Amino acid sequence: PAMLGMLGGGQLGRFFVIAAHEMGYRVTVLDPDLNSPAGKIADVHLCAAYDDREALESMAQSCVAITTEFENVPAETLEFFEQTRIVRPAAAAVATAQHRVKEKNFIRDAGLPVAPFHVIESAADFNSVDAAIYPAILKVARFGYDGKGQARVSGREEAEAAFEQFGGETCVLEKMLALDLEVSVVLARDVHGHVATFPVAENSHLNGILDISIAPARCSDALREKATALAIELAQKLEYVGVLGVEFFVCGDQILVNEIAPRPHNSGHYTLDGCVTNQFEQQVRVLTGHVLGDARLHSPSVMVNILGNIWHDGEPDWAAAFAVPALKLHLYGKHEPRAGRKMGHFTVVDVNADNAYGLAMQAREALGIGE
Ligand code: ATP
Ligand code: MG
Ligand code: MG
Repeated sequence: PAMLGMLGGGQLGRFFVIAAHEMGYRVTVLDPDLNSPAGKIADVHLCAAYDDREALESMAQSCVAITTEFENVPAETLEFFEQTRIVRPAAAAVATAQHRVKEKNFIRDAGLPVAPFHVIESAADFNSVDAAIYPAILKVARFGYDGKGQARVSGREEAEAAFEQFGGETCVLEKMLALDLEVSVVLARDVHGHVATFPVAENSHLNGILDISIAPARCSDALREKATALAIELAQKLEYVGVLGVEFFVCGDQILVNEIAPRPHNSGHYTLDGCVTNQFEQQVRVLTGHVLGDARLHSPSVMVNILGNIWHDGEPDWAAAFAVPALKLHLYGKHEPRAGRKMGHFTVVDVNADNAYGLAMQAREALGIGE
């Protein structure tokens, strides 16, 4: 069977390996961590840095096509593979998504709605910031996730202090919005420009980390259609080929693009249990040039993230979760639980999202999530 290449060995890569295996492919994973969730189940695990020349050459030799689960993979690594191999998504799209300034400029220049923002490259840039932007959030341009590298600031003084704390790294200063709702769309776009969108998910966060996703989102049809249309437009304008996650803010009747992820998305994990094709199969299909899978939702779903916080003296009480017959547990094979570390998730499916939500909250509470 053909060998596919995966850059990154986290849980997203692990689900990709599982999907690829089920579809008859082998996978080489590149990740510097010997115990990475995907590396452990890959056919070949290249345990090396993302710019290790020898590892990259070996991957290029053995893999027919290469993808990523890690948005911070160096763009040069993807460019290297692009010389001789199929790479989806393309280096240029990943480079845009991995840098908040490029990302926000791209989204705005594409004519799509974003929150008011200002680029901060040096302390002097605060001089030209309109005070109306405060209260705001200062976000470092690179390597932030799960709310890391972000500071909520009430005015210029706090913003400058936060900028200094981030070591003077390039940042985006973004207006703090009163959010009514957060939703996301995961889609797959193939090399011919065909798009398959998964149903809109409704997301809530806890301490900056995704906590719960509900699909379909409990909002108006108009809002769901708008979010889906914006995600498709963004993918087209990016000439994106691969699986893309698009996060949105909803404020009143306004919908704004928050950020994009050039890979399957945590809020799309419900597709493993709720959809005919899941987001990782879709990633395999795009990478290997197959027709996109049917993205239809067969069961309304509620996903809950499981963080290391619920490990106290040993394993959480999984029996309490299994007491819900329609609950599907997915653990990522990580053996060092830490507070804030994503260890797994579960999904509850039912005939409607409200039923699924009720049962999911029962299991969430029984496991001690959010305490
Ligand atoms: P991710 O893990 O999704 O990559 P991240 O670290 O890139 O997260 P963001 O998505 O920018 O961070 O922000 C995390 C969360 O913080 C958002 O989902 C939202 O709840 C809140 N947030 C971010 N920006 C704003 C804003 N401008 N106004 C209000 N809330 C915001
Ligand atoms: Mg992000
Ligand atoms: Mg986000």
